[in-house]
Amino acid sequence: PYDFLVVGGGPAGAAAAIYAARKGIRTGLVAERFGGQVLDTVGIENFISVKATEGPKLVASLEAHVRDYEVDIITDQRAAKLTPKTQSRSGLVEVELASGATLKTKALLLATGARWREMQVPGEQEYRGRGVAYCPHCDGPLFKGKPVAVIGGGNSGVEAAIDLAGIVEHVTLLEFASSLKADEVLQRKLRSLPNVTIITDAQTTAVVGNGERVTALQYRDRQSGGEHQLALAGIFVQIGLVPNSEWLKGDLELSRFGEIVVGARGETSVPGVFAAGDVTNVPYKQIIIAMGSGANAALGAFDYLIRSSVE
Ligand code: FAD
Repeated sequence: PYDFLVVGGGPAGAAAAIYAARKGIRTGLVAERFGGQVLDTVGIENFISVKATEGPKLVASLEAHVRDYEVDIITDQRAAKLTPKTQSRSGLVEVELASGATLKTKALLLATGARWREMQVPGEQEYRGRGVAYCPHCDGPLFKGKPVAVIGGGNSGVEAAIDLAGIVEHVTLLEFASSLKADEVLQRKLRSLPNVTIITDAQTTAVVGNGERVTALQYRDRQSGGEHQLALAGIFVQIGLVPNSEWLKGDLELSRFGEIVVGARGETSVPGVFAAGDVTNVPYKQIIIAMGSGANAALGAFDYLIRSSVE
């Protein structure tokens, strides 16, 4: 068995594996795809101390750093079932993989990340990273002085629109329903901004581009049925971040958004099970934050291991 097993090979899982391995404990890492969301990222300019890099490049150095330690890396495997030590015959935490194999560990870290909900309209995939964006903190500055749209009138959409209004030329916020869902205080702030237009009852129907980059967004007015086109340079999709925690439902405490609820040391509601990164209820989801929380949870798990004198 492992002393410390990490499920997830994104920045949170990689950082945790390195911190654990440096303690000299038997460490494993199992991931569907090493690198996680970072693999899908084009430019990264907010990973502090590295002025600018690209996702695949950062993933390659992450992997090289992990491989520098004695970490048992298992990729292309999906974790499908968690059994807490109180319920397992071995007295250890058990993780069953979709392939049928079972991994056993004294302490477990869940770092399965999250995925952005997509609009699922023509052009979205084609122009992902070429005008279609999901993270205003990451990509906002790329649209300085240009017109953009934000899709989604919940808290994250309205926060994104307020944030972007300070950087870009103009923001059009589109909401599918007939009113915004965001907190009143945010809506008030949004309406006070001179370079923001709000369109409700708008169903996005297509992302339009010139083969290189996004040039427009097409939407249908759900009241009149009319099709409209907005000329713009960027589209920020803010219709939800979905944590990869479906397989854990009922096993440990999740927030109403499905995020794993963690304490200050990354501990979950199940003894010996820790979590870090985008899959948790940490309020901000970023590479540097995921790495910090992975390191934090690995230290939390190490503390737990030296205190549980089972073996
Ligand atoms: P993830 O990166 O999501 O990694 C999750 C890992 O878990 C993956 O290895 C995955 O394969 C694995 N996994 C999931 N489920 C299972 C399972 N059941 N079994 C086994 N393995 C599983 N942040 C920034 O700071 N700067 C940026 O510029 C930036 N740009 C972004 C651009 C895009 C397009 C996207 C999508 C995100 C961007 N982010 C950016 C956010 C950043 O990528 C995330 O905050 C960060 O990757 C979260 O790390 P994580 O380790 O928690 O999860």
